[in-house]
Amino acid sequence: MNHNTERSGRRSQTGNKLKISFEFFPPKTKEMEESLWGAVTRLAPLSPSFVSVTYGAGGSTRERTHDIVERIAKETSIKPAAHLTCVGATKEEVDDVIRSYAQSGVNHIVALRGDPADGVGGRYAPHDGGYTNAADLVAGIKEIGDFEVSISAYPEKHPESPDFATDIEMLRQKVDAGATRAITQFFFDNDLYESYVERVRRAGIFIPIVPGILPIHNFKQMANFAGRTGASVPQWLANRFEGLDNDVETHRLVAAAIAAEQVQDLFERGVDDFHFYTMNRANLSYAICHLLGMRPVAQGQDAA
Ligand code: FAD
Repeated sequence: MNHNTERSGRRSQTGNKLKISFEFFPPKTKEMEESLWGAVTRLAPLSPSFVSVTYGAGGSTRERTHDIVERIAKETSIKPAAHLTCVGATKEEVDDVIRSYAQSGVNHIVALRGDPADGVGGRYAPHDGGYTNAADLVAGIKEIGDFEVSISAYPEKHPESPDFATDIEMLRQKVDAGATRAITQFFFDNDLYESYVERVRRAGIFIPIVPGILPIHNFKQMANFAGRTGASVPQWLANRFEGLDNDVETHRLVAAAIAAEQVQDLFERGVDDFHFYTMNRANLSYAICHLLGMRPVAQGQDAA
């Protein structure tokens, strides 16, 4: 077997074994809504295990998140997961949202503490009469119904965590409350992810820690945002995007290659489940999945 055959053989094997999910955010305008639905329609044939819809900072998108999640449940064959946070609402208000998901047949919630209304980096304070943190919210969700609950994890620790031990203790509390999957903040250095998972396993926590993969649509914007989320941007990554600010096409090709490389390397380290932050755009996520050997399955046909 020559080198090329071996590589493409390994890729199609990868495609067969991978599990994927996609994350979207609720659109603000009619045009953005169309682009979201375009992305959902394009990515659906890749048979994701689920697609999730975020909940705006400060709880600002409660209705929009709810409407999109319900529409995905009603109009597509994909399983939706609704993000939900503790911010800006009483327990009763959050419980109403949870009950209404149960009534619409949505049984997967991504439970988060959330960021305050002024966004990432703002000071968090629990709402009067609200859930105090993500672990408290997970427990509340499990009390209301038989939901699958996913949570966040931070390979480079959450920026508010004083150390990894505190961070992993918070993860443990969420798992003890009933969460069964963690999805990570995005990262670019797979060694950081691997050593985080080792720490988590050493702490006796064995739920899947699904890596969150961010295809880079705009390097400059991503680098600004990353600083506030605690995700580091390695110099080698900056070098790869150097000079491409105004060269959209090359930027896109480089971004697809980098993310495919990252996922392939993780797969070779034994990871087979990936969550893509799509930014409501299908092109990069679709291209990356294609490079990994994933192929569309006609809707209604069994992916297996
Ligand atoms: P937690 O897991 O509760 O806490 C994060 C860390 O903060 C802990 O590990 C802990 O070390 C520290 N910490 C928190 N409370 C305490 C305490 N009392 N004492 C000591 N340390 C403490 N935000 C949104 O607004 N909407 C979304 O839809 C959304 N989706 C996300 C999806 C994923 C996969 C990820 C990774 C993040 C998402 N976020 C979202 C961002 C998230 O809300 C923020 O990172 C927020 O600051 C923390 O929420 P959490 O649930 O991750 O917090």
